Amino acid sequence: MRKSATLICIPIMGETIEKMKIDVQKAKQNGADLVEIRLDHLTTFNPSPDLHTLIQDRLLPVLITYRPTWEGGKYDGDENKRLDALRLAMELGADYIDVELKVAHEFYDSIRGKTFEKTKVIVSSHNYQLTPSVEDLGNLAARIQATGADIVKIATTAVEITDVARMFQIMVHSQVPFIGLVMGDRGLISRVLCAKFGGYLTFGTLESGVVSAPGQPTLKDLLYLYNFRQLGPMTKVYGIIGKPVSHSKSPMLFNEVFKSVGLDAVYVYLLVDDLANFLRTYSSTDFAGFSVTIPHKEAALKCCDEVDPVAKSIGAVNCVIRRPTDGKLIGYNTDYVGSISAIEDGLRGKHNVSGASSPLAGKLFVVIGAGGAGKALAYGAKEKGARVVIANRTYDRARELADAIGGDAIALADLDNFHPEDGMILANTTSIGMQPKVDETPVSKHALKFYSLVFDAVYTPKMTRLLKEAEEAGATIVTGLEMFIGQAYGQYENYTGLPAPKELIRKTLEN
Ligand code: NAP
Repeated sequence: MRKSATLICIPIMGETIEKMKIDVQKAKQNGADLVEIRLDHLTTFNPSPDLHTLIQDRLLPVLITYRPTWEGGKYDGDENKRLDALRLAMELGADYIDVELKVAHEFYDSIRGKTFEKTKVIVSSHNYQLTPSVEDLGNLAARIQATGADIVKIATTAVEITDVARMFQIMVHSQVPFIGLVMGDRGLISRVLCAKFGGYLTFGTLESGVVSAPGQPTLKDLLYLYNFRQLGPMTKVYGIIGKPVSHSKSPMLFNEVFKSVGLDAVYVYLLVDDLANFLRTYSSTDFAGFSVTIPHKEAALKCCDEVDPVAKSIGAVNCVIRRPTDGKLIGYNTDYVGSISAIEDGLRGKHNVSGASSPLAGKLFVVIGAGGAGKALAYGAKEKGARVVIANRTYDRARELADAIGGDAIALADLDNFHPEDGMILANTTSIGMQPKVDETPVSKHALKFYSLVFDAVYTPKMTRLLKEAEEAGATIVTGLEMFIGQAYGQYENYTGLPAPKELIRKTLEN
């Protein structure tokens, strides 16, 4: 059953009426609530027959927009003709029309005394540079409302993700139907969480990248990734904080799991520049928990009110929860357990051994990288009794980590010639080999014969060049996906306080 009242509108931007009609049909088939016909995208437009076709034969409720270049659209013709077309759309019974704030008074004057019962007027304002202060947004909303608008629309631009919070603040307090969207990659949550904060509609595209404003998600993602219809005021928000972040599989995983177990929660991408500012800004307990990835894991340690002792020793936090009772931020590191248990399973599988003692005990364990994941692996391997060597591009960071855990350090450039013994274990914890640079690898193939097991934290792609070459060299391989699965169990348990549905998590990720 549908919970969210927020509508999903598909922008229709075909260059011909025929193409527009095909796209409207697709929008209907795929579950949209309404379409926005962007008249300014038509290469030829003859108001009388074209508007009749688009409005009277409509398959879905229709919003007619004829955006001029001075407001970010494509129409640069006569202004009177543009407004005439909008008036005709009202006469023909369009469900909505969009009028820009700059001309709203003039437009209302021109229709005074006439009644258009079927049409709601959206008065809109677009800012392609930034998102103003809360005060300025509030004043803008009041000015729009004062024109007589049925629906207020404000679209701004996110310079930082924290800009979106101001839009949510205005949205929840609006007395009239309100469309508040923040454009750009950093504004993505405005397009999803408007369903929680009471937005009138959001835009979803038919095809990825074919957008009428920067940052629009696809209709498919709204419906099936974010379960948009199920979002509401009580929905808890979780998300992956990173920069970049769009490669993460966490939203796909957690949204699927939340849906399967019936949790009122959504998991979003959070492209964050300044972690401390983000956590300060989204401080309500509704923003309940976060996964943290590149480059924020070390900063996350400093931002938490309390840090789990294991995460503190590692010096990195990859999971932050906001304690519901007092709003305090608690940091954990689930990379540690996830990666080490995956490697132990790999070693146990190979030698077919079981038992309480770790198969890592006494092994020479080489960690490539000294960042968040590197620290988790180095600390974990040491805990399990391995002798640890850190190889890092920046030698000083390798040295620092080695000193902290009681290991040795080398420069990454020396790794090809490092083979003090056979049967070593190698763990890549850098992003070398990650999409799109899949041809890269941190160590030459000839050096891999000295390792009995090679692990790669990179999981996009699952089979990295490093793992392929390690397999060819005869080593056991453990993929980053295994670590990802292991760390996701831990994140879920921290988020919910419940045991992780392990089979469900594994199945979702393997699919
Ligand atoms: P991080 O804290 O930013 O650390 C990055 C490390 O990689 C640093 O040691 C850095 O060396 C090194 N590095 C980066 N680019 C390099 C390059 N071009 N050449 C040589 N060294 C390079 O990042 P992180 O959070 O540890 O994540 C690292 C990787 O692990 C990412 O690919 C991430 O996706 C993956 N990961 C996977 C999982 C999983 O579940 N499978 C979990 C966590 C992380 P310098 O010190 O010289 O800068």
